[in-house]
Amino acid sequence: MRKKIVAGNWKMNNNLQEGIVLAGQINDLVEKAGINGVDVVIGTPFIHLTEVNKIVGDKVGVAAQNCADEKSGAYTGEISTSMVASTGTQCVILGHSERRSYYGETSEILVKKTNLCLENKLTPIFCIGEVLEERESGKHFDIVKSQIADGLFHLSAEDFGKVILAYEPVWAIGTGVTASADQAQEMHAFIRKTLVEKYGKDVADNCSILYGGSCKPSNAKELFSNEDVDGGLIGGASLVAEDFMGIVTAF
Ligand code: PGA
Repeated sequence: MRKKIVAGNWKMNNNLQEGIVLAGQINDLVEKAGINGVDVVIGTPFIHLTEVNKIVGDKVGVAAQNCADEKSGAYTGEISTSMVASTGTQCVILGHSERRSYYGETSEILVKKTNLCLENKLTPIFCIGEVLEERESGKHFDIVKSQIADGLFHLSAEDFGKVILAYEPVWAIGTGVTASADQAQEMHAFIRKTLVEKYGKDVADNCSILYGGSCKPSNAKELFSNEDVDGGLIGGASLVAEDFMGIVTAF
């Protein structure tokens, strides 16, 4: 059966000391609550990874929010997948809409990053999602399908099985406007159908598809109760330990 996952995406928030405190709080709450059956992941800035990995126990995973698209060498300011892996980190958030729109991250770049993650045994949390205009003009299914196909369909079924997907409608990210439970389920079911066509039912059934975009304790239960919504990628609400836990416990 596919995993239920709640992953936090801190984005460019928290200095190192603040990040250490927050990671400790989240880890304590997860351990105290004895969370079972939900994988909890926190996505921190690069410079936090080493320290946060020391703080969290085996109930909390750690993700980077990006990685370089080259292995090593003269790429000033970049952080490679092998560097990320050497901190004990397990996952990398890839293709977030902020990276696609502000940093020109294309599907070609994401193919390289995905391959490098898998070579370094890092799990990609691969983000997809349409902007408001695309939804309003009825193109959202085509957009999401092509983001998945262009970024991931070069993978073998075995490698695709190592990827987590996160559907994040761009109009819902950080806006307070969440997709309705029906809108989320409709898109997640469409994504799973797309995966069935490419990789078959087993691979599609085993793929965790997270929802992201203004997910909070008050709406997480309704979103997660949908058959094809396997958890969430959480931005703003992952910056307060109690709020994040309210989502972790929403299944
Ligand atoms: P949000 O961000 O929860 O603040 O909307 C989600 C994300 O960007 O991953």
